[in-house]
Amino acid sequence: MIGFSLTDEQRMLQRTAREFAQNVVAPAARQVAEQPDMVPWSVCGEVYRQGAELGFTGLLLPENQGGMGGSCVDLALVMEELGAADVAVAANYFSLTATMHLLISRFGSDEQRRRYLAPVGGRGPLFSGALNEPNVAASDLFSPAPGPNIGIRTTAERDGDHYVLNGGKVAFVTNGGVADAYLVLARTNFEAPPAMGMSMFYVPNGTPGLSFGKQAELIGWKTAHHAEVYLDNVRVPGADRIGEEGKAGMLLMAVPEMPIGLAAAYVGLARAAYEYARDYAKQRVSWGKPIIEHQAVALKLADMYVETQAARLMVWEAAYACETDPQAAGMLKAPAAKTFAVDVAIKNAQRSVEILGGYGITKEYASGGYLNDAMIGYACDFTREMLRLGMVPFL
Ligand SMILES: Cc1cc2nc3c(=O)[nH]c(=O)nc-3n(C[C@H](O)[C@H](O)[C@H](O)COP(=O)(O)OP(=O)(O)OC[C@H]3O[C@@H](n4cnc5c(N)ncnc54)[C@H](O)[C@@H]3O)c2cc1C
Repeated sequence: MIGFSLTDEQRMLQRTAREFAQNVVAPAARQVAEQPDMVPWSVCGEVYRQGAELGFTGLLLPENQGGMGGSCVDLALVMEELGAADVAVAANYFSLTATMHLLISRFGSDEQRRRYLAPVGGRGPLFSGALNEPNVAASDLFSPAPGPNIGIRTTAERDGDHYVLNGGKVAFVTNGGVADAYLVLARTNFEAPPAMGMSMFYVPNGTPGLSFGKQAELIGWKTAHHAEVYLDNVRVPGADRIGEEGKAGMLLMAVPEMPIGLAAAYVGLARAAYEYARDYAKQRVSWGKPIIEHQAVALKLADMYVETQAARLMVWEAAYACETDPQAAGMLKAPAAKTFAVDVAIKNAQRSVEILGGYGITKEYASGGYLNDAMIGYACDFTREMLRLGMVPFL
């Protein structure tokens, strides 16, 4: 049985997300874009607070843990709306945090859930995942080969009932420097393949030995924060290891909602790039008529619509599979949806730039910004190549 109709509650959630996206997210993104020297969090912190109040950060948490008890389809609906207004706000603040809340809910102990998910300053905590490292290909995470020289080098060594963490993470670490807490990956076994030799630790901001370095300056995603994370003899109680020792790779695979939320945000970008170009094409005149009446332009717009719809359906189906077939969702459908949605976003953004002619590459018009934001999706949360290679054993 296949059904594509949304429930009344889902329509209301979608409407709430759309209003929030248009009235709060979009103006904040414009404010940051207009003042490049501004610290994005000084504006986005309030956006995050308001979104958390609407329940978006705890969207996937069960109601008895203070969440909305929402499904991954609900997440996809919200992220598409936020992504259409600003993909970086959607991806970095809301999708990442909602899915990290879920990871903690799914794999944390009762005591960890109570402590880690407790409100900070009247709102849900902002999380960050510190996984990858400079001078280590992030793609190593997918390496089936064991070896001490493959994969991350940050170490977690036992010292009584604590672990001691040492290492450094890439300047790409999302929310680095502004997050309330970091989920840090560290190696507890150098002999196993990377995905089977890492453990995950909860390190709250302010922990002695935790510090931040260079901030990645990206071509887009101007509303986001990324920074290097350093761990210098950071002492983490054994009670703050999430999941079993050496099983962090499995934890990440078991939250397909993470790539699906990101994919949905990129469907939002694909939609926004299409709608922006369509509206422009209806009013720009050449050869005496609106350019949408020239077939070369019209077909581009039709393709943009078709592919956005295809990406949306893939995301929805992957989201639905999170409940019906989590294994297939994690191993095949979520990476496929993220790959496809980002590819469509990149193509739509490029077509949008083309339809605007010379104006497409100016800062005054949105299309160029869409293209920069779209390209970032390629490498963020693993590249198209890695995601597809990861699927191969399950084909
Ligand atoms: C905006 C943004 C946000 C990010 N946020 C975070 C974060 O919050 N936390 C974090 O830890 N990291 C984060 N990252 C890091 C991100 O996960 C990596 O940049 C990404 O996985 C690519 O890794 P890499 O740059 O090391 O590329 P590499 O692994 O060096 O790969 C380089 C190229 O080679 C290809 N390649 C590599 N190995 C193979 C192979 N075996 N077969 C075929 N092709 C291969 C890749 O597809 C790619 O095209 C973020 C990155 C970006 C851009």
